[in-house]
Amino acid sequence: MTTDRLQSGAHGAVDARGVGGAGGARDVTMAIVGADVLTLDPARPRASAVAVAADGTIAAVGDDAEIRARCGARTELVDGAGLTVTPGLVDGHVHPVWGAKLARGVELRDVHDVAGLRDALLAERARLGPQALVRGWALDYAVLHGVAFPGELLAELAGGPALVSYFDLHTHVATPSAIAAAGVTAPIALDGNSAVAFADGRPTGELIELPAYWRISDALDPLGPDELRANVRAHLRRFNALGLTGGHAMDGDLAAYALLDELEAAGDLTLRLVVPLLLLPETGDDGVEELLRHRDDRGTLWRGGVAKFFADGVIETGTAWLEQPDSRGGGGDCYWPDPRRLHDLIVRFARAGFQCATHAIGDRAVRMTLDAYAAAAAAGAPALPGGALHRIEHLEVLPDALLRRCAGERVVASMQPLHGQWRPGDRSDEWTLRLGAQRSARAWRIRDVVDAGVPWTLGSDWPVAQVDPLLGVGYARARRLPGHPQMPVLDPEQALSPLEALAGYTTRPAATVGEAARGGRVAPGMRADLTVLDGDPTTVEPDALAELGVALTVVGGRVVHRRG
Ligand SMILES: [Zn+2]
Repeated sequence: MTTDRLQSGAHGAVDARGVGGAGGARDVTMAIVGADVLTLDPARPRASAVAVAADGTIAAVGDDAEIRARCGARTELVDGAGLTVTPGLVDGHVHPVWGAKLARGVELRDVHDVAGLRDALLAERARLGPQALVRGWALDYAVLHGVAFPGELLAELAGGPALVSYFDLHTHVATPSAIAAAGVTAPIALDGNSAVAFADGRPTGELIELPAYWRISDALDPLGPDELRANVRAHLRRFNALGLTGGHAMDGDLAAYALLDELEAAGDLTLRLVVPLLLLPETGDDGVEELLRHRDDRGTLWRGGVAKFFADGVIETGTAWLEQPDSRGGGGDCYWPDPRRLHDLIVRFARAGFQCATHAIGDRAVRMTLDAYAAAAAAGAPALPGGALHRIEHLEVLPDALLRRCAGERVVASMQPLHGQWRPGDRSDEWTLRLGAQRSARAWRIRDVVDAGVPWTLGSDWPVAQVDPLLGVGYARARRLPGHPQMPVLDPEQALSPLEALAGYTTRPAATVGEAARGGRVAPGMRADLTVLDGDPTTVEPDALAELGVALTVVGGRVVHRRG
């Protein structure tokens, strides 16, 4: 879909040329004229031209004559005929570093049956050779559903050793030869509930949770620091080509901070990132003290200042924390063995001036998180810079009482509508079966969230869902994947309007991190983060968003993608 879209732009080629003549402000480095500028600025919703200043901010927004008057001899003038300029698109929940470690090999997102999986794996086999480890990611659970020994089937399909991840990265499948080559010949104890699964004395092929995955992957095909950096750089460039200028990168640890510094020093950081630091149950007291010292870490395009927590897991594996158990008896536990410690750490980081972002999918996890944020406020936690608010990630099960609390207590609902794509119309999926009819009707309630006055933002959770922001915008409008008209519509009453969906990737993520005064709109003085598209994303049909071309992507005044 990505390459199709980039190659499909028949009109609106970007033409850049210097403009002769003296006069005008010398500090305008680039101007786009003759375009449709969708500013998302209530003071001036539409314009035809925008000028970018040398300091990476927007110098002016107006009509062509106004902007041309600001151009100098060294201004790069871009002909925007047929193009729409929007504020730079931002993914409010994405994993560029973590994804670069896991999204290796062939993307299996468009594989829907065993034959399709065989074709994809054999193509990769032909590329890599008979002995190589074939890797794949983003596989739908439905493809191998009910297979008792998926590792053996995978070996047949891939014609040799292979390692494949399901889309949610909680479960993976390896061939028996790969498992044996990694030295695993009997069940072994790993962190948490992670396991290399065995039945009848032989491996089933299933690798439950990431420690089991790393055990196989690191033994056979380790990812060195140079390769990781190259992978991150390549993914960031791909994101730019899809129109992304920024993201809230939920990856954070100090190694990621060091990696971002290295990328930035080499000129390879091409996405503006807010990067939380992750606290886990195994983070000891020394680790906590260490992380508290890194609140103000930042580069030019990236910054920290956010603490990330997990209050629970996911519905499908019974690890979401629910008020009432799911239909298989799961859902009873917090991700932290000691929920009180999680509560206390949230309060501590909020009091230390961190914005907190907490993964909470089940209703019990959402309630616990709201209680911790309220306790932090009661304990005198400071207001956050720029009006940033504490946030909850996912909120997949959200009863009305908690929805009202999010509104009243000003907690951001960070939602990923694209996660609805794995729920078929007959509701036969594990997510729906576990929750039952009543609770599954409260899924991804983005319309209710907006209408209740809850602060909100949208994101993809890539590599879990597609990172393409226009697919996210289109899903939020259509409640199914753009370009897939046969796909059932999930709870159509939860759809967003075209302008709301675009706000979910522009003004809303900016406000969420307290940067509404600097980003999310095309207005003078704002960061020159711009996305230039082949059409107006608020007027084309959702299905057309899947094919809408990206002509130009600009981050801080620097062109990071230009269609060739
Ligand atoms: Zn995530």
